[in-house]
Amino acid sequence: MSCTEESSDYWDYDDPSAWSKHFPSAAGLCQSPINIISNDTALESYPLLIFSSKYNSNELFTLTNNGHQVAVTLAQHTYGQNENDLWFTGGGLTGQFYFVNFHLHWGRNDRHGSEHEIDGERFPAEAHFVFKNQQNGQLAVFAFHFIIADQWDDENTEWEKYTDAASQLLNVNDTMNCTFNLSQLMKANEREFFRYTGSLTTPPCTEGVVWTVFMDKIPIAEQSLNQLRQNITKKVYRPVQSINNRTISRNSLD
Ligand SMILES: [Zn+2]
Repeated sequence: MSCTEESSDYWDYDDPSAWSKHFPSAAGLCQSPINIISNDTALESYPLLIFSSKYNSNELFTLTNNGHQVAVTLAQHTYGQNENDLWFTGGGLTGQFYFVNFHLHWGRNDRHGSEHEIDGERFPAEAHFVFKNQQNGQLAVFAFHFIIADQWDDENTEWEKYTDAASQLLNVNDTMNCTFNLSQLMKANEREFFRYTGSLTTPPCTEGVVWTVFMDKIPIAEQSLNQLRQNITKKVYRPVQSINNRTISRNSLD
């Protein structure tokens, strides 16, 4: 790449270890993703997550191929939607966190693709839902791991909609609108998750991001991931980073 390109484009997934040349935060001590060792976690009992009503309804979103991944934002200025209407509180976090975007990470084959690992195990894909506390700028990301569905009809159909739409956005800045139900996309036990403080997993890799990595896995068809691999890009994930001195918490029902 030439130096005249915008800095936001000055990275790719071929060599994530080079990101810190242009994005110093990427060499920080509190980076994401990490390998979560479940036996080395501190048990917690956080308050319930509480979502606004739009979490449970079909809302219009816009998918955008941003050159690195296919990110999904609320389709603003359409049907009078207000970006402030999709939020959560609770879960051990302070304040109200507003939806920013969601996106998927995947790999060349089913053995890779997730960003976080659990006890060294990788998964074929990982979804991120990014939220922001607009009062203090705090970012919070919900992460979900995927497993390959045994049968085609076991696939989470809401994610099938994502892979169908995303795999048609062949060029950078291609967009498409699609309705999604966030509660169907984030279909998991909301009480069972890991929690730690890390960073964005894409440049500028800014730290201070609160991560919530849910334990439940979402089923996806291999064919759906193949559509993305063949049409968009082969791999979209950053390898795990050092935990260093961080404590990983585990929220549990018991
Ligand atoms: Zn991500």
